[in-house]
Amino acid sequence: MNSIFSPNKTVGVLGGGQLGRMLYQASINLDVHLKFLDPDSNAPCSKYDFQQGDLNSVKDVFEFGKNCDIVTIEIEHVSVEGLRKLEAAGVKVFPTPDLIEMVQDKGVQKDFYSANNIPTSKYQLFDSELKIDWPIPFVQKLRKGGYDGKGVAVINQKDKLQNLLPGPTLVEELVEFEMEVSVIVARNTSGEINTFPMVAMEFDPEANLVEFLYSPSGYSSEVEKQGSLIARSIAKKSDLVGVLAVEMFLTKDGDILVNEIAPRPHNSGHQTIEGNITSQYEQHLRSILNLPLGETDIIMPSVMLNLLGDKNSSGKVAYPGMDEVLKLKGVYPHLYGKSISKPFRKMGHVTVIDESLAKAKEKALRVKKILKVIGK
Ligand code: ADP
Repeated sequence: MNSIFSPNKTVGVLGGGQLGRMLYQASINLDVHLKFLDPDSNAPCSKYDFQQGDLNSVKDVFEFGKNCDIVTIEIEHVSVEGLRKLEAAGVKVFPTPDLIEMVQDKGVQKDFYSANNIPTSKYQLFDSELKIDWPIPFVQKLRKGGYDGKGVAVINQKDKLQNLLPGPTLVEELVEFEMEVSVIVARNTSGEINTFPMVAMEFDPEANLVEFLYSPSGYSSEVEKQGSLIARSIAKKSDLVGVLAVEMFLTKDGDILVNEIAPRPHNSGHQTIEGNITSQYEQHLRSILNLPLGETDIIMPSVMLNLLGDKNSSGKVAYPGMDEVLKLKGVYPHLYGKSISKPFRKMGHVTVIDESLAKAKEKALRVKKILKVIGK
């Protein structure tokens, strides 16, 4: 298996965004050759071994992957049929097409949780928004195609019923959560499993994106243990190969409910690059190459903040304040190589490490104040 280090072996990655870019960064140390497929000729990975193509086209996915040894993903909205064809042609596909197909449909995801005793909020599936008969408040989610909160409607008053989204739908109870938390789990093809310590996520309500992420989460070891057990159980029951993020609600009563899963490197694991012994990106490569998994312990507390495009400007990106931020100790900017800034577009992130989480938080707030992402 170690022949994977041979220069003639290639891992094909569907998607060439920032997650692919950080995967590429990790691949250099292991001398693994990655190539990327993405519809955008200016995608963050377009500077590397890159092909332009449609991730949802059976033909494009097959043609791209047929000469690879392994094909993996950095986005789950891809052609499962194309992946199945690749498997039939002898290419290894991790995570499996079955798992990717499952996460593409939020309704099927929920059925997977209930069939496997994974705690999740009460739910019901409806063929269309016109048939929804459910007590208010509730959350309606389109079963397919949503991301970053697009495709989610919170219906907490009768007059909000007019905001229902059209299409096959998942309805679930509105969870009164204390915090959103995430655990990333990894599994290699030999079945070795480990988890990263839990992180806590604070969302920007306007952008519907994570604003700050805290590692460690600050919750009790009991909560951490519970989150890790749930993530391990999902990894086993879904035949995971690779890393998978489990986004969970920590309820006001101290219970954990799984919200959704993503079988790929995830926004909630960016801080592992500087904050943990092994990064989620290296761990993903180790998993799909069936190498021993790396230790996941925290080296130093960290806070991650997303660099989102300024809400009032669009155009060629500029980062005023960057010089000042670079003078701060333990502050690591990651720019994703996107030349155009748009309101709330994810342009990069900054990881801040310090000897205590409180100090890292304080410094992250300073960075947020100083560093801007504007379009000119
Ligand atoms: P996406 O796949 O677009 O990220 P999610 O299903 O994760 O969509 O929902 C986006 C956000 O909406 C969550 O991070 C959470 O803040 C909120 N949310 C989703 N489901 C519920 C729920 N059942 N109760 C309360 N808030 C929810």
